[in-house]
Amino acid sequence: MKKIKILHMYADMLDLYGDSGNMEIISYRCRMRGIECIADTYSAGDDMPDFSSYDLIYIGGGADLEQQHISDDLLRCREGIKKAYENGTFLFLICGGYQLMGKYYRDADGNEIKGLGLFDYYTVAPSSRRMRCIGNIVVRTKFTGKTVDVVGFENHGGQTHDVETPFGEVRYGNGNCSKSRHEGYFGRNVIATYLHGPMLAKNPEISDYIISYCINRNNSEEIKLSKLDDRLENDCRQVMLDRLIK
Ligand code: GLN
Repeated sequence: MKKIKILHMYADMLDLYGDSGNMEIISYRCRMRGIECIADTYSAGDDMPDFSSYDLIYIGGGADLEQQHISDDLLRCREGIKKAYENGTFLFLICGGYQLMGKYYRDADGNEIKGLGLFDYYTVAPSSRRMRCIGNIVVRTKFTGKTVDVVGFENHGGQTHDVETPFGEVRYGNGNCSKSRHEGYFGRNVIATYLHGPMLAKNPEISDYIISYCINRNNSEEIKLSKLDDRLENDCRQVMLDRLIK
């Protein structure tokens, strides 16, 4: 039986807007295809896991306070996560998790939370707490091999700069910065995005992209995922697209 191994980090702290639902979607879509999905969790202070033994490491979003709470612990995990990433483990990161993989996140009061520096971007929140990027968002992506309009919900003060390879192009909403053209960060084995939702519930192609990567990363012959009935998900997404994109 094929299987994938997931490490869900800080599920008890970084779980804005039901971000943990993303991992439920991954395991549901694996189960429907007879793929075994082992999902472990890691919380601050737990024994250091063998990060490289996982196919996928997932971190959700959180408010500034939660980010501060876990930041020392996350730094403690830096070498393990970095090595895993370099060995091909997929990183899926939402909002607060996205910010903390860059150089730093500076909040509205000027407090700086050191990031892992795995990627070159950095994030700064404006000093006015009222200036947040909040609302529905549509991002056009092309990396799955076709054009997909990904829908989600964003709520962040942080403005992320110096992103060389974004997740996609903003069609509606803000993205990395207020009214910016680009959203998130993308690489061979990383998707980092401001989209909550939980975003995978609304965007099955992105779930399958991640599952397919995980299942094939150590395979010489590509295993194709069987098709699932995504009519409901696609209809729901179409409602949002019709409402937001004229
Ligand atoms: N605290 C961060 C910000 O406001 C991240 C928020 C989030 O994860 N939604 O930018």
